[in-house]
Amino acid sequence: MKVAFFSTKSYDRRFFEAINATYQHDITFFEVPLNADTAMLATGYPAVCMFVNDVADTDTLNSLAANETQLLALRSAGFNTVNLQRAAELDIKVVRVPAYSPYAVAEHAVALILALNRKIYRAYNRVRDDNFALEGLLGFDLHGCTVGVIGTGRVGMVFAQIMQGFGCSVIGYDAYPNEQLTQYVSLPELFEKSDIISLHCPLLPETYHLIDQSAIAQMKPGVMLINTSRGALIDTDAVITGIKTGKIGYLGIDVYEQEENLFFQDLSDTIIQDDTFQLLQSFLNVLITAHQAFFTRNALEAIATTTLSNISDFEQGKPLKNEVVYHPSPALL
Ligand code: NAD
Repeated sequence: MKVAFFSTKSYDRRFFEAINATYQHDITFFEVPLNADTAMLATGYPAVCMFVNDVADTDTLNSLAANETQLLALRSAGFNTVNLQRAAELDIKVVRVPAYSPYAVAEHAVALILALNRKIYRAYNRVRDDNFALEGLLGFDLHGCTVGVIGTGRVGMVFAQIMQGFGCSVIGYDAYPNEQLTQYVSLPELFEKSDIISLHCPLLPETYHLIDQSAIAQMKPGVMLINTSRGALIDTDAVITGIKTGKIGYLGIDVYEQEENLFFQDLSDTIIQDDTFQLLQSFLNVLITAHQAFFTRNALEAIATTTLSNISDFEQGKPLKNEVVYHPSPALL
């Protein structure tokens, strides 16, 4: 099947080309992101493959449909940038990679916790400068801490198990609790009791700015907040206020609400215009990585395999096991 790939990086190409030797799709790799301005590049391609910060809004989808695209294959788990209602109206099927490596994301969340707690990034730079002083590097034992996990799905459960291995007491909140975790609490109780809070729920209308001023007010002073899920789960301005007052003691983020203007590109020769991002970067107790939690060899192989298999299923008229189906909310019925 002819597939137009958007937002392609060298590593996408490498992994997809290797695994496509089995699937034999006719792939064209575009470096540009998918949006209303670039959608015309997909003219004549029945399938389009997009990544996390590509935008399939109404205008983009209208353009894709006019150019006869029938399948939107997301090489990600999240689908918050796709207007599913419009896709359904245009009869464009949407498929995704629901699970590739929960370990990749969970382990990165743990990496942020360890690096922030023991100030590894500061220590690394100091030692390179022959500065062997320890002032400012004081950490705390993870053993005995209470860790609050918001969203106990695939990633959240792996994360919970790792933190239990450190001797932490893990409590969870989920809109749909599962049987594997016994310690579920209400969201206010999780905010109140946790020394470390890690977000692993999807970005939905009901989780937008889940961490806002009122949530932060309920947290322990000096709490560590970790977000490897989606940037807009956090109200960044409220978090900055929390950092300034000392209420938030540590912030580790792999995602940022306006990341589509920054992440996945080398901007080292440009002046960053996002003042909020620059302010965040200026705090020594904030550690930012640029949406790399998924970025392991194992995850990239799994993403390529599932994406190409989703496309083959569509081409062969098989049931789409990884379809994202639009469900109108009751308010819209
Ligand atoms: P998942 O679907 O297995 O788990 C999500 C969990 O969130 C589910 O248990 C669900 O019930 C729960 N949930 C849904 N609505 C909720 C709500 N309102 N409040 C609390 N919990 C709610 O997803 P996953 O594979 O564990 O991935 C979790 C998130 O990680 C994804 O949504 C995605 O945004 C993010 N992610 C980030 C990266 C990265 O590289 N940084 C990579 C992959 C996934």
